[in-house]
Amino acid sequence: MLQSPAAWLVIAAVLTSPLAGQNFPEEKTDSLTLTYLGAAGWEITDGTTTILIDPYLSRINGPPPPGGGSGHAVAGDTRPVYKWTDIARPDIAAIDAHIRRADFVLVTHTHYDHILDVPHIALKTRASVIGTESTENVMRAYSVPEEQLITVRGGEDYQFQGFSLKVIPSIHSPLDHKHYFSSATAPPGMKAPLTLEQMHPEGGTLAYLIRFPNHQILAFGGNNYIEREISGLEPDVVLMGAGASRKDIYDYTGRLMRDLHYPALVFPTHWDNFLAPYEASQQPALDALQSFLKEIAVASPKTRVIVPKYFEPIPLGK
Ligand SMILES: [Zn+2]
Ligand SMILES: [Zn+2]
Repeated sequence: MLQSPAAWLVIAAVLTSPLAGQNFPEEKTDSLTLTYLGAAGWEITDGTTTILIDPYLSRINGPPPPGGGSGHAVAGDTRPVYKWTDIARPDIAAIDAHIRRADFVLVTHTHYDHILDVPHIALKTRASVIGTESTENVMRAYSVPEEQLITVRGGEDYQFQGFSLKVIPSIHSPLDHKHYFSSATAPPGMKAPLTLEQMHPEGGTLAYLIRFPNHQILAFGGNNYIEREISGLEPDVVLMGAGASRKDIYDYTGRLMRDLHYPALVFPTHWDNFLAPYEASQQPALDALQSFLKEIAVASPKTRVIVPKYFEPIPLGK
């Protein structure tokens, strides 16, 4: 039955009233803020939901990755030195000073510079931890409740309140001049506290495409990707591995920029020396980053690159 013109007027009035937008939560989400936490760690928030990626604030004086990676001990560091067989406790004061809330923690892989702080953060914030079986087994060792664990393998595309998340199969940085390889996975049944060795079986590597209404962020936890898995994605923001091992990859920056259709904004990630405390100079890492900036300028001249400072919120705008 056709409705009378009067009924249509009433409907039109409801749709155009200033209150009508309140029925659509995504309309509130017009701005995102990104904050760099160091290493491969980020906080992303729309004011309602807070997502952390590989949050690692302890920055312990631990063993360097094979071949150096982006971590090496700095002169004059008087903090305790940790070996692989040591139990390293997270720096609770550093975490609590900067991480006040989280709804989701996305973990790219189970290496200590990505996962050491996640059990404490998960227990403190009750955030859901999204990661591989290896990652979730580390959470289980620290008694993070099962309902907080969302185990993925890559290929999932999940809808959450206010954003969607595509989990992308990826590969680890080619450390040690391409000699790094690990098929190790953290087994079930471990009991906390874990040694650094137990916190460091890679368990496979993932990347994440996080889609908010006005921005799509592609987040990597290191310097590598599987081209067919990212080709055709159109993020406007990329957290892109910018460590030295990218130079072992064929046309790393050129292929990524082309495959992603020249994203508007790139933030280099995992470029700093994560074995140095926050207050140490990162000048050598910043100097090394210059070649990355040049690569982007050549491969994608219109892309803006922002080199983040620790804990300085960066609003993305609309
Ligand atoms: Zn790693
Ligand atoms: Zn790492």
